[in-house]
Amino acid sequence: MVRAIVGANWGDEGKGKITDMLAQESDIIIRFQGGSNAGHTIINNYGRFALHLLPSGVFYNHTTSIIGNGVALNIPYLIKEIKSLVDQGVPEPKILVSDRAQILMPYHILFDEYEEERLGGKSFGSTKSGIAPFYSDKYAKIGFQVSELFDQESLKEKVVRICEMKNVLLEHLYHKPLLDPEKLYSTMMEYKEMVAPYVCDVSKYLYEAIQSGKKILLEGQLGSLKDPDHGIYPMVTSSSTLAAYGAIGAGIPPYEIKQITTVVKAYSSAVGAGAFVSEIFGDEADQLRRRGGDHGEFGATTGRPRRMGWFDTVASRYGCRIQGATEVALTVLDVLGYLEQIPVCVGYEINGQITKDFPTTVELEKAKPVLQVLPGWKCDIRGIKKYDDLPENCRKYIEFIEKELETPITMVSNGPGREEIIYRK
Ligand code: GDP
Repeated sequence: MVRAIVGANWGDEGKGKITDMLAQESDIIIRFQGGSNAGHTIINNYGRFALHLLPSGVFYNHTTSIIGNGVALNIPYLIKEIKSLVDQGVPEPKILVSDRAQILMPYHILFDEYEEERLGGKSFGSTKSGIAPFYSDKYAKIGFQVSELFDQESLKEKVVRICEMKNVLLEHLYHKPLLDPEKLYSTMMEYKEMVAPYVCDVSKYLYEAIQSGKKILLEGQLGSLKDPDHGIYPMVTSSSTLAAYGAIGAGIPPYEIKQITTVVKAYSSAVGAGAFVSEIFGDEADQLRRRGGDHGEFGATTGRPRRMGWFDTVASRYGCRIQGATEVALTVLDVLGYLEQIPVCVGYEINGQITKDFPTTVELEKAKPVLQVLPGWKCDIRGIKKYDDLPENCRKYIEFIEKELETPITMVSNGPGREEIIYRK
């Protein structure tokens, strides 16, 4: 049985926590897209962790954690992340890396930095992890698959050829130091040593796992609105954030994904540039930011303060629809306990017309939020285990959102910890 855990919003919905929690009853957890450019914060009995590349299931002895072919694989980063877990007392996780995953090269990170520098004020707010240059190269067919590390003759030739190409840009567009093919080749040989113990024909492994009835989780990074096709292009990420892509990025049949658990945040937050209709500013935003998440709303990878906003039903309903959500996990609801009244964005006003449909970016830039105010519950809901024990206004808030999302909310998260979850149905 395959279940995807994906985000409906701009990322940071708390997918890591939900994955860590559900991994308890799972056998295999797979990352299928993205790279080390966004982080999942996980708090469990080993401590507090910010994972960037490893799936959020690495904390159990019984699970296998997989880096699927769709991921941007930063090899030294992977090794560093495994080491940091073991150093903090987590048992050595069982990890497999797809032989078809492509390698994030050192120059991808450089090109990301140089391009942001070149764009200046018009930059995308990249995390400078090399993700956009990586996926550009993958689709331009000049990337390196893990499997290529093991064919040294052709690798050597290809390294020379790629360096020639990259050096034209480095010299004439960016005016930066050139790549040395010999040095790059020896770096790749180091990568080979590092990754060799983990390399696996992942789609075959998963085929057999599915046949034998294993429980498999696909863990998405970021959320619907950062999808390159269906999100707020161009302020998006460079790989698909949708459950559907899980089939491709892991190498399994699409019809095997039976459950699409879509994580929705009880308010909005976003990192990076782009239209954000329900955004709030000043003191109002600062208050929510300080209370948000488990340590305030600051990006797990970048430490950048997140942009804050009220719950956006237009964006979230669309986010659920485009994921194909079969259920919703509503997270960080506890954070809203300080508010007397809670505004919710229930529509967009665009050129004097009100719509409930999420528009393309050009229209989105013109949208103004239509707000409806719901009563707050003014108390701390952490520690509550049963839905019926939640304050009435809190249940009303959840049920209001559920109606707007047109998807059942089956889980409500009321704290960052593994056990802080209320099951509904
Ligand atoms: P992800 O990328 O979707 O996994 O999200 P992040 O880990 O970047 O951000 C979610 C943040 O919220 C993390 O700091 C989590 O520890 C925290 N978190 C998750 N669920 C809850 C919750 O229900 N309540 C609170 N207060 N924090 C939560």
